[in-house]
Amino acid sequence: PAMLGILGGGQLGRMFATAAKTMGYRVTVLDPDPQAPAAAFADVHLCRPYTDEAALHTLARTCAAVTTEFENVNADSMRWLAGEGVPVSPSGDCVAIAQDRIAEKTFIRQAGLSTAPFLAIRTARDLDTDLSPYLPGILKTARLGYDGKGQVRVKTVEEARYALSELKHQPCVLEKMLPLETEVSVIVTRSAPSEVVSFPVAENHHADGILDVSIVPARVKPEIAERARAMAMRLAEALNYIGVLAVEFFVLEGDELVINEMAPRPHNSGHYTLDATLTSQFEQQVRAMCGLYPGRTDLHSPVVMVNLLGDVWGEEGAEPNWDILLTAPNAKLHLYGKTEARQGRKMGHFNVLAADADSALEQARAIRDTLG
Ligand code: ATP
Ligand code: MG
Ligand code: MG
Repeated sequence: PAMLGILGGGQLGRMFATAAKTMGYRVTVLDPDPQAPAAAFADVHLCRPYTDEAALHTLARTCAAVTTEFENVNADSMRWLAGEGVPVSPSGDCVAIAQDRIAEKTFIRQAGLSTAPFLAIRTARDLDTDLSPYLPGILKTARLGYDGKGQVRVKTVEEARYALSELKHQPCVLEKMLPLETEVSVIVTRSAPSEVVSFPVAENHHADGILDVSIVPARVKPEIAERARAMAMRLAEALNYIGVLAVEFFVLEGDELVINEMAPRPHNSGHYTLDATLTSQFEQQVRAMCGLYPGRTDLHSPVVMVNLLGDVWGEEGAEPNWDILLTAPNAKLHLYGKTEARQGRKMGHFNVLAADADSALEQARAIRDTLG
């Protein structure tokens, strides 16, 4: 069977490996961590730095196709692999856009789609302009931020200057703080046969900057959900994207939709597809990288996904009692095999399926409350 390569061996890589192997492929994971969640699920674990030349040569020599599970992989490594003749999806160029908020938001706007008003801050002198269109706002580092890290909320010009120095003068965007009605996301898949499909829209709720709960179908007007799917698919087309692309949206007053950011990979808010659609987002990733048509994406049941963070673990990493999750017939537990539980660390998630989104949410909350 063909060997598929993936850059990164976190939980997304682990769920990718599971999907790929179920479909009959073999999997090589590149991740420097010997304990990486995907390591035990891989046929080959290249336990090397992401830019390690020998490891990249091995991927080029042995893999029929290569993908990534995180956006901060070196885009040049992906371009190098593509240059060696290995199909690499998404492309290094798409990943380079997604890993830099300035490039990302600029691209989204050039594609005719809307973002929050933002100003690119490359040096402190970029703050020497009228900042009133962006205040109160959020200063976000252009690169490497996730789970709300590398972000400072600022109300005044002085606060913006101070925040930039706090962020060590890294390139940033200053983005206007918008009044959000809610947040939604769309996972799209585009493959070489040039089919773009999208999964149903997820409604996302965060706690302390980290995704907490996704509710599907999103409790927004059908017209808003349709528009979000159309915008996400248009973005994938504009990027000439191959692979799975996640697009996060803000829903504003007056049914306005703006794109917050994208991720060039499966997304936490798409984990519901493991249990509530025929094709999971990880199977779609396999299909897209192999040049296959995407699978069906229609929702079989309303579903709520709840993230399990390290916070639920007890003293010395004691696991919660999973009995309730393992006995509830409509709940499904997914653990990532991480041994070290830290606060805010994503350890697993569970999906609850029910007749409607509200009752799934109610049951999901009840289950979570019993976990601690
Ligand atoms: P992720 O873990 O999703 O990659 P991130 O660290 O890249 O997150 P963002 O998605 O930019 O961060 O922001 C995190 C959250 O902060 C958003 O989901 C939203 O709740 C809030 N937020 C970000 N930007 C704005 C804004 N301009 N106006 C209002 N709220 C915002
Ligand atoms: Mg992000
Ligand atoms: Mg985000």
